[in-house]
Amino acid sequence: MYLDNSATTQVSEEVFEEMKPYFTEEFGNPSTLYKIGRESKKALDQARQRVADAINAKPEEIIFTGGGSESDNLAIKGIAFKFLNQGKHIITTEFEHPAVKETLAYLESLDFKVTYLPVYENGIIKVEDLKEAITDDTILITIMHGNNEIGTIQPIEEIGEIAREKGIIFHTDAVQTFGKIEVDVEKLNVNLLSLSSHKINGPKGVGALYIKKGTRVIPLIHGGGQERGIRAGTENVAGIVGFGKACELASEQLEEHHEKLSAIRDELIEKVLGTIPESYVNGDMEQRLPNLVNFRFKAIEGESLILLLDAQGYQASTGSACSSNKLEASPVLTALGLDPVDVHGSLRISLAPESDAFDVDEFVETLAGAVSRLREMSPLWNQDLDYDGVMCAKHRDNCRMC
Ligand SMILES: *Cc1c(COP(=O)(O)O)cnc(C)c1O
Repeated sequence: MYLDNSATTQVSEEVFEEMKPYFTEEFGNPSTLYKIGRESKKALDQARQRVADAINAKPEEIIFTGGGSESDNLAIKGIAFKFLNQGKHIITTEFEHPAVKETLAYLESLDFKVTYLPVYENGIIKVEDLKEAITDDTILITIMHGNNEIGTIQPIEEIGEIAREKGIIFHTDAVQTFGKIEVDVEKLNVNLLSLSSHKINGPKGVGALYIKKGTRVIPLIHGGGQERGIRAGTENVAGIVGFGKACELASEQLEEHHEKLSAIRDELIEKVLGTIPESYVNGDMEQRLPNLVNFRFKAIEGESLILLLDAQGYQASTGSACSSNKLEASPVLTALGLDPVDVHGSLRISLAPESDAFDVDEFVETLAGAVSRLREMSPLWNQDLDYDGVMCAKHRDNCRMC
């Protein structure tokens, strides 16, 4: 049972079928003038229309990229370099995806100034903090729509209104929200919005950046003038076709999937919290994605839990796929202000529409078994049981056996 759909998803059969011809007989370069090239161009145009329709944009506002990370880079560096002489201040949050965070760290090394807004215990910024952070030097606000580890949703419309009033460009990373909740660029008041194909049952290595008409960015990749000169290189036609189809399917099924996924999620939350002592949900209980829940278990080491679950056939993660092989505390959970010990005891479950076969009762039983097995071996847990949280004055936090 695959429970890590926030990391990536399976390409759906319909998407794969739509892509196939573009690997074989329809191999033309979209920039050429003869028939086979024109066919590829037509396929690109159709995909662009489908992506645009899915977010209420115009096709000419969609730039295809090599994925969500590239879209984030293009938006942020593209604006930073464009406005180099008008200001060097950028506002973001404490818990962005690495594609945003590391891009900003790079810009800081080039003398840009970045303000990181706190996300508090519920994982949501306060717009008052944003208002206070804005200066005459602010050129860009980049705040993610839905968080990839805990699923909390930021007040993007409100942020967009503030940005618009102040005349500041606003980018949001909507990779996790797209296909899960409504993503409408007009309602959200954004100038730039990042999308990725492989999080919505499309192929990997494809994404898009929405660039509102009138917003200008400096390209990252210079070359043959494809994508209106903003992203050079012969287009990944098959990938883009697949992405277009995935967008179409995702928006057609949005409401149905939302209902289905949030019902499973709520059942899962209720049963986990009801069955496993000292278990918690990370992040806001209301403003959250329908398909993702991040649990926290006291006195548990997340990685051990993942391995035990894997041995029982459940594939889930502790949080971000990008940081799980580094064995360091999740920066996202740390940003919530959690105790460093608690940060390690997390488990992210992210469902997909095809998670029909997911039996919540069976899973919770397995999970509860794994948690109690680990706790039996955990000095932290036993200490709490034996001493009721009181530590001896001599050894303090290290008092386990004495
Ligand atoms: C997965 C993800 C990305 C990166 O997208 P890729 O297509 O894998 O490069 C960016 N932002 C968020 C929030 C993500 O979840």
